[in-house]
Amino acid sequence: MVFKTTAFDHSATAPWFGRGAQINDLAPGATTPLDRAPPGPGCAAMSDRIGRYVTDAGFAAAVVRCPATVEEVCVRQHGLGPRPATMLGEAIVAGLLLGTRLKGPGLLTAALAGEGAFRHFRVDAIGLGSVRAMVLPSTHEALAAWNGVDPLLSDGVLTVERRLQDDTQPYQSKLLVAGDAIPSVFNQFLVASEQVMAAIAVRVSDGEAVGVYVERLPGADVTHPLNELVIEMRDANSHPALNEADNAALLSALCPEATFRELHAYDVGFHCPCSRDRYIATLRGFKQTELTSLTNGAGVIETVCDFCRTRYDIPLDEVL
Ligand SMILES: [Zn+2]
Repeated sequence: MVFKTTAFDHSATAPWFGRGAQINDLAPGATTPLDRAPPGPGCAAMSDRIGRYVTDAGFAAAVVRCPATVEEVCVRQHGLGPRPATMLGEAIVAGLLLGTRLKGPGLLTAALAGEGAFRHFRVDAIGLGSVRAMVLPSTHEALAAWNGVDPLLSDGVLTVERRLQDDTQPYQSKLLVAGDAIPSVFNQFLVASEQVMAAIAVRVSDGEAVGVYVERLPGADVTHPLNELVIEMRDANSHPALNEADNAALLSALCPEATFRELHAYDVGFHCPCSRDRYIATLRGFKQTELTSLTNGAGVIETVCDFCRTRYDIPLDEVL
């Protein structure tokens, strides 16, 4: 199952040129596998899971637990310090939760651009449970110079794009957001852009990465205590602790009056569709003068994926 994709938000993925070609997005006309990639060396531990639930009162919920994926992406791939890693980890959890709202196989992209040191990052939730995150070299440099005190994000813009398999016109929304609290940023999006009665809660700490999404569906019981829960979860001052070790206990603690029925559960893991062949295909679209300027003294074009930091050294001979 594949779908055509086009590059998204060029300003956010620039520069394509730097120390080696920074090819941040899929080659024009390239295809992305939407289904989960088979478990392999690039996939995180199989313990990371998403569970999806409904209640008799007409609410939907999702719970994601993905500490291994957050560790893989934030620490091993991007080498972030504790606070930036927590922030990106929270965005990964939130992105996976929003991805459960896709009406079919697709791609959900959430990009944050702020005025602070963590000036740009992007999370792609691909298909069912696959995720990757992009941190550009310029952002890594800004983080390296961060004084550890100033806001990491500050005022910024959240861009969310949804593409379903058969969409010719992807849905995109941009929202001005304030503050460094990632759950709050995504709740602002749900209220202002989606206009749904829904909220997320996220905790990334102590080796845990857990998140909950609750949405009131059309025709739901508007007097049910779950309405209050959604309102509380939206309020940064009453953000739930999410300390419970299993999903049933967690949902019960959030709303003892609700009975959640699990619809299905699936694995979560890191996946990036980049490949040496895809880079070669992209480079073949460049002018020869551009290729020459990218080639080092040994006749090799050094490329690094800004999502997973995988490096591909491609001899110019293979591109021409
Ligand atoms: Zn990659």
